[in-house]
Amino acid sequence: MKDDNFLKEHNAKALWHPMGAPGDSLANPPVIITRAEGSRIFDIDGHSTVDGVGGLWCANLGYSNDVVKEAIAKQLYDLPYYSAFAGSTNPTAIEASMAVQDFFAEDGIGRVFFTSGGSDSVETCLRLSRQYHRIKGQPQRTKFLSLKKGYHGTHFGGASVNGNNRFRIGYEPLLPGCFHLTAPYPYRNPYDETDPAALAQKIAAEMVDEIEFQGPDTIAAFIMEPILGAGGVIVPDASFMKLMREICTKYGILMIADEVICGFGRTGDWTGSRHWGVKPDMMSVAKGITSAYFPVGAALISEEVAEVFETADSAAAGIWHGYTYSAHPVGAAAVTACLSETLRLDTRTNAAARGTQLYEGLLGLKEKYDIVGDVRGGHGLMTAVEFVSDRAKKTPMDVATVKKIQKGIYDAGAMVRPAPPNIMMSPPLVITEDEVQIIIDAFDTAIGAL
Ligand code: PMP
Repeated sequence: MKDDNFLKEHNAKALWHPMGAPGDSLANPPVIITRAEGSRIFDIDGHSTVDGVGGLWCANLGYSNDVVKEAIAKQLYDLPYYSAFAGSTNPTAIEASMAVQDFFAEDGIGRVFFTSGGSDSVETCLRLSRQYHRIKGQPQRTKFLSLKKGYHGTHFGGASVNGNNRFRIGYEPLLPGCFHLTAPYPYRNPYDETDPAALAQKIAAEMVDEIEFQGPDTIAAFIMEPILGAGGVIVPDASFMKLMREICTKYGILMIADEVICGFGRTGDWTGSRHWGVKPDMMSVAKGITSAYFPVGAALISEEVAEVFETADSAAAGIWHGYTYSAHPVGAAAVTACLSETLRLDTRTNAAARGTQLYEGLLGLKEKYDIVGDVRGGHGLMTAVEFVSDRAKKTPMDVATVKKIQKGIYDAGAMVRPAPPNIMMSPPLVITEDEVQIIIDAFDTAIGAL
């Protein structure tokens, strides 16, 4: 490894970073993280912080789980790779698929299609939903519905259903036939509806109206995150996902739950859908499936949808889709170990308790500081603070101030993720009470020092 000065000198010179302008990374080189332990990360200057981001909503087990590390290392020696395209498989892939099936049995999930990450998983669900209708004799069902503020990755399909135009505009034209409904975001919405349950009803009415307008038998699927993550931790009313489920069922539209963030305990239950009492037709997952120790995702298929594929003739039901690394043996070993550790450590219970602590601590700061416009969370370890420059007018805080707050929080001992006007948190699900308090105190220090 090159020495620290060499690394600093070459930071962002050859590497283009996702989700940022290359020029900005050159002007303000990214922090270099060199090692991690438990829920703490260390930068190249030795500064240690509590990882309030959990890598990127993904290091659910923290960074020191030896069971997962050893499973990966062993598999690298046994079989580092072999294709799982139809015709060959490997022992760890078979085992991992069964572990995933067990994990999601209560959600009605029957089959697993492995991918390399969340965007792949979303793409797979979107494609399979079209094919499902085609098999059933409705090839005209090609359109997709989704929520504004939703995030579904960056493939063309996912970007097309994404509800934040930052991820869309530079890459248009996207997939035709994608329509976006109002986000269940009581703090800001076109109805000026601050009551979450009433807002849920209004969006349900909007969905029915859109379906009738498009023609019910032209819509393949509706995709939503149970709690909208990257869009700012938007927590819908408890009635919302159930309402969406009922409408999908009524019109024969498949419901895809994008569980890439919510899955594996983050919401305080094993899936966000289960948290709201909903069984979707498909789920996209990634991140917590390996706690990010190896890049793996999966599209999960309900028993009902699986049966349609498995009983159709192979000309119609051939899945001409997949990735070189689908069911990668090393990834599969990581999945089996990670799920067994996730269950053993019962991470959902800690996520629920520590999530409440984080949410309530940050709500306290709303009382103290006018620039804290909205605090969202309270359902596991997904939390956001939305900053405003004028509380009465809800004027979004400027980017520079939000970044200054984030830097102040980092200096005070916690890594958090700026997405102006929000700062978002999704720490490891194994985070301790003391570490959560460090995050809250770091916010207090940074805002107080403005
Ligand atoms: N869906 C959701 C809900 C996500 O949050 C993300 C990533 N944050 C994705 C899809 C895309 O996943 P990936 O970055 O692994 O492709």
